[in-house]
Amino acid sequence: MVSSKAADDPETLEFEATVEHGGSDVVLSETYFYPEGGGQPPDRGTIGGHEVLDVRSDGERIAHVLDGQLTAGETVSGVVDPNFRRYCMRAHTASHVLYGAGRRLFEELGYAGFDIGPEKVRVDLTTTSRVDDETLVELERLVNRCVWESRDVTWRRLPKEEALARDDVAFNTKTEEGITGETVRIVEVDGWDVAACGGTHVRNTRQIGPVTVLERSNPGEGMTRVEFAVGPEGIDRRASEKRAALDAATELETSVTELADEATRIREDRNALRDELESARTELIETRVSSIIEDPFERDGLRWAAGVVEADANHLSEAVRDRPDELDVLVLITPTGQLAVGSGPIDASEIVDELTAEFGGGGGGSPDVAQAGGLDVDGETVVGYLKRTDT
Ligand SMILES: [Zn+2]
Repeated sequence: MVSSKAADDPETLEFEATVEHGGSDVVLSETYFYPEGGGQPPDRGTIGGHEVLDVRSDGERIAHVLDGQLTAGETVSGVVDPNFRRYCMRAHTASHVLYGAGRRLFEELGYAGFDIGPEKVRVDLTTTSRVDDETLVELERLVNRCVWESRDVTWRRLPKEEALARDDVAFNTKTEEGITGETVRIVEVDGWDVAACGGTHVRNTRQIGPVTVLERSNPGEGMTRVEFAVGPEGIDRRASEKRAALDAATELETSVTELADEATRIREDRNALRDELESARTELIETRVSSIIEDPFERDGLRWAAGVVEADANHLSEAVRDRPDELDVLVLITPTGQLAVGSGPIDASEIVDELTAEFGGGGGGSPDVAQAGGLDVDGETVVGYLKRTDT
């Protein structure tokens, strides 16, 4: 079995090897290319001058898929893309540091998955703790503290039984990452975290650089997904968040640290104003309805009142329902042709039918209260019609 030397010797990025299996699916006598596995993408680079498109391990051997052909027996040089590899080393180590921070914050922490993407890294954790914004901020703070503390990162192999017996070692139970045959590869961040892992890592946490937590989500019951970025992506995100916070603070004439209090104050003010506006509007409608009621007219031997009110449909219906007893029919209409009818002795919906037959629109309701909308005329025309047909 040929295994990659990438994980144990991540700094060797150029090497020579013999082609054991030729074609475009190449197997080498030895390789420093990391094959895709455990959430870490395959290395990029060139072999014999051909671009490496994919690196895969089937457990027996490692195949390098090339953009070209090589012949068995030839000696070739392999060059691993240093930038992408360095990014993966930083990202992978950052995930261990994040897990270590999680150990300090969460109850019953477990490890459920991991993936390094080109711009962000995803870690799935199982925990019974609720991961809120505050916890996420603390998680990021602890991770960056650990980076600053420049802790050594080391790796070694332990017999499988010994590793599994240790309760301080984090295992990805889904992929059993790091476990090959009878040994388990252990990656230790000094005084911070121990995990079974087969990936490539930096040798000191300070090499990770700044880490920015981007999002959290809940992909399943009891599972928390944390997405973070290392490098430019994370630095840019932090800058844009800071810019947004400063813009908001400037707009509200306060400081970033006072933003939350200021936002609370503004929300309370807004709610109070909304209540005030609502009661002023109600008062206005009541005054208008009173003056309509005070100007009744006779129609078909009954006592009617009708008038135009600026109000929404709910207010109209409420007002006609509260029609005083001495009034037989109350018709209220908005300037745009919404109307409500409240009636005692005759069916309110029949009045609506009469008005919609005359002026268009449609409506209906009960004998007590009926509504209509979409009339083709303005409110005053309807009021004029009702008063004119006064008999
Ligand atoms: Zn790792």
